[in-house]
Amino acid sequence: MRVYKNFDLTEYNAYRLKSVCKMAYFPDSEADIIELYKNERNYVLLGSGHNIILSKAYYDQAFLILNGNFNAIEVNKAMGVITAEAGASILELSKIAEKNGLTGLEFYYDIPSSVGGAVVMNAGTKEGETKNILKKVRFLDLSDMKVKEQYSKELDLEYRNSVFQKQKDKIILKVWFQLEKGNSRDIRRIMDESKARRWSKQPREYPNCGSVYKRPPGRFVGPMLDELGLKGYRVGGAEISQKHSGFIVNINNATGADILKIIRYTKEKVKEKFGVDLEVEQRII
Ligand SMILES: Cc1cc2nc3c(=O)[nH]c(=O)nc-3n(C[C@H](O)[C@H](O)[C@H](O)COP(=O)(O)OP(=O)(O)OC[C@H]3O[C@@H](n4cnc5c(N)ncnc54)[C@H](O)[C@@H]3O)c2cc1C
Repeated sequence: MRVYKNFDLTEYNAYRLKSVCKMAYFPDSEADIIELYKNERNYVLLGSGHNIILSKAYYDQAFLILNGNFNAIEVNKAMGVITAEAGASILELSKIAEKNGLTGLEFYYDIPSSVGGAVVMNAGTKEGETKNILKKVRFLDLSDMKVKEQYSKELDLEYRNSVFQKQKDKIILKVWFQLEKGNSRDIRRIMDESKARRWSKQPREYPNCGSVYKRPPGRFVGPMLDELGLKGYRVGGAEISQKHSGFIVNINNATGADILKIIRYTKEKVKEKFGVDLEVEQRII
């Protein structure tokens, strides 16, 4: 396990906000994670940091980071099952599924995420959501320090939500995905088309964390913000994207405070004009 003091988190959050934490641990195994939690509870847990806003420049706290380590992937082609440790990248997973002629993970190709983060957020696109292909999850329950396994239907997966958001004392260790047999060429075509469609609409040229808000029932966030003239609204180095108002982008050394100010202002204006309470999708740390 790698351990660092005064660790720079800039490359570990998708907004590329400059922030430092007192300690950072990169566990390699389930045993490492259990050992860490036996000694301390107060970690900030990160998957790949693609859905977080770091509100502070310094954290007097330890971070536990799963991305890029704790990432073994196994394939049982005959059963159509892929098993992955929580730190595995879902992009990798989608490519492995394609190579093995297994369909169901195409929509993962363009969502930047760890496996654990994808389950916590029930990550998805118009083409699918984690709920559809999730079979089983293995997690460490900090309430009794036992490792448990639960099937998908017990995990309250719904639009960008799961039991793991409500119960933060459960640390996802390993995930089983149930896929179907398919044709690698068709799978690749779907992946490429979906990526091209998304990149034409999203501001990928600047650091961002995807959609800032959950989609309110019967409404779309982008058009509401456009109607309010908020496209391009800027605070410090952060801006509501000129390309897609549902995104905030870091255009010039933004801070977490800049992003949070934009969010507060936007929520206020949307409530005033449309009577809608926008819910932030990203985790504010
Ligand atoms: C360009 C871009 C496009 C995006 N498009 C989409 C999209 O189309 N659909 C979509 O759903 N999302 C999208 N997102 C958001 C993001 O990719 C997802 O929310 C992703 O699933 C976050 O995973 P992560 O590993 O980065 O989680 P992190 O940001 O690291 O963490 C998110 C939360 O999950 C918790 N967590 C992480 N790992 C574990 C674990 N092992 N056990 C328990 N809790 C854990 C963290 O503590 C935190 O609260 C996009 C982001 C970007 C930057």
